[in-house]
Amino acid sequence: MKKVSEKTTNYLEKNLNEIKSNVLLSSSSEEILPTFGTNGVRGLFSELTPHYALKLAQAFGIWIKNRYGNKIIVARDQRITSECLASAVKSGLLSVGCEVYDVGLCSSPGAEYMLNHLKASGLIIVTASHNPPEYNALKFIDGNGVTISKERGKEIINLIPRIELAKIEEIKPIQYITNAESYHFGKILRNLNYERLRQYKNKIKVAADFGNGTSALYEKFLSDFAVIYPLNKELDGLFRGRKSEPTPENLQKLSEYVKKYGLMAGFAWDGDADRFVMIDEHGNYIFGDKVVALSTLFKIKIKNEKIKKAIITVSTGRVVEDIVKKHGGEVIYTKVGAPYLSEEMLNQKAQIAGEEVGGVIWPEVSLAKDGIMTSFAIIEMLTYKPLSEWLNELPEYYNVKNKVYIPTNEMKNLIIEEIKERLKNENIITIDGIRINFEDSWVIIRASGTEPYIRIFAEAKTKEKAKELAEKYTEMVSKLANSSL
Ligand code: MG
Repeated sequence: MKKVSEKTTNYLEKNLNEIKSNVLLSSSSEEILPTFGTNGVRGLFSELTPHYALKLAQAFGIWIKNRYGNKIIVARDQRITSECLASAVKSGLLSVGCEVYDVGLCSSPGAEYMLNHLKASGLIIVTASHNPPEYNALKFIDGNGVTISKERGKEIINLIPRIELAKIEEIKPIQYITNAESYHFGKILRNLNYERLRQYKNKIKVAADFGNGTSALYEKFLSDFAVIYPLNKELDGLFRGRKSEPTPENLQKLSEYVKKYGLMAGFAWDGDADRFVMIDEHGNYIFGDKVVALSTLFKIKIKNEKIKKAIITVSTGRVVEDIVKKHGGEVIYTKVGAPYLSEEMLNQKAQIAGEEVGGVIWPEVSLAKDGIMTSFAIIEMLTYKPLSEWLNELPEYYNVKNKVYIPTNEMKNLIIEEIKERLKNENIITIDGIRINFEDSWVIIRASGTEPYIRIFAEAKTKEKAKELAEKYTEMVSKLANSSL
């Protein structure tokens, strides 16, 4: 234990300036508590404090009890503040008379599967997903498995001033559940071809970069169906192996590993394992849109499932739409964020949903993005042919992602509104940010819900065209940011 804390101290000292600047940035808005964003309530430890987490949990407990029942699951990731916040959350729920099922350390898709498995009324996950280690968040999920959106979250926040404690006889002991990943994996396995996977077990060789996150809890299961070359499999609240977001920059080592050992693919997840991306056998990064498209192909070609409806976020590439339409299905666009995808999945009874960062919803498992199920679907695909041959079945688009630092939400909104006004005569979709559609290319300009950026994402049939489009609109955002707005 001593060794770990020394290491932690060294890391914190090394990164103190960066962490300090984040804390300072937040201290100017000290009185403003974080509220529901794109996916739950997120903040630094100084903002999302144990005290506030307890109040949020109490309000959520009351809200859920009135709608779904009083059995609530609590799960957490391995971040340094997660156990502390989870304790506050459990205390809050118990204090308003909820029955608490503690699944402990768990991936987000694992926790969301447990909601179905235990027929629970709600779920709180303590995880900041792919964010840096000084952040944490509470993700709230209702009894149908739908993540609480910003809009529904307001109802919960409004309950905070009116919290009433339960009567002493209503306070119950916590139920502890271990190995949630085993239950989750059992469900995944029922959707795979077990015999075939076992038959090819020694032929499938992949590198797996767990990024020090909760995907590492599944290494044992991956190793039962493939030869795994692991990277960053130690659970680490400071993500010292690599940064938690599985971006091309953060997966360079994985790419080198795949090439060095001549492997069939490199797998990578974000910190809480709901997102999954890949490296192909040549070391190329495969963007999340293609992961969604390949998952759709898995259903169509391997499971012989008809895709009538697919739900994708407005920032997802056209590759998914092309595949779904080619096989006679329909694509429904939503705002960016897990809550909107899971809400639409429930409403539309669609067969698959996904977003461009590599989140895929498999409704046969849960209404949550499930990077673990996705990785096993890809393993099964690899028993038929190499990844590059599967990728050849997808239409080729090139994309460029840029971002411009914009410190406040007010400024982000002003810039987005100004651009909407400037582009009002173009072919635009304004369901979330501004998507500008051209004949065989498109661009989206969108304010990040969780980080101080406006993101610009362009896609076209050639690299040059994508770059040109991204640069044009990045410049527009930068100029507006630097002007006197
Ligand atoms: Mg995540």
